[in-house]
Amino acid sequence: MNEPVPERLPSPFATGLACRCPRCGEGPLFQGFLKPVQRCESCGLDLSFAAGTEGPAVFIILIVGFVIVGAAAVVEAMFHPPPFVHLLLWIPATIILSLLLLRPLKATMVALQYHHDAGEGRSDV
Ligand SMILES: [Zn+2]
Repeated sequence: MNEPVPERLPSPFATGLACRCPRCGEGPLFQGFLKPVQRCESCGLDLSFAAGTEGPAVFIILIVGFVIVGAAAVVEAMFHPPPFVHLLLWIPATIILSLLLLRPLKATMVALQYHHDAGEGRSDV
């Protein structure tokens, strides 16, 4: 079942956007919306290191905040809508955009973590 580690790993961005295993690019990375699988069903990679990856939330806040605030400023400058229109536009847009970005960003961070052998800080002392 365990395939040998490929000589050249697939792009972490390609596997991340596809939500696939960072080593083989074949097996699915998630078993639910955001819960990573224990092992890749294609290559057997142990994905337990991915369980605690919460970093995407920070990037989503920054990206979605930039997009929504920018869009709200443009709409306000061009159309001067009443405040409730802003609420009707930007609250659902924020939620939808955040949910759309969550899986691919988490998968990309897991892939980058695997590619760079990154992990929690360790003391060598
Ligand atoms: Zn795999």
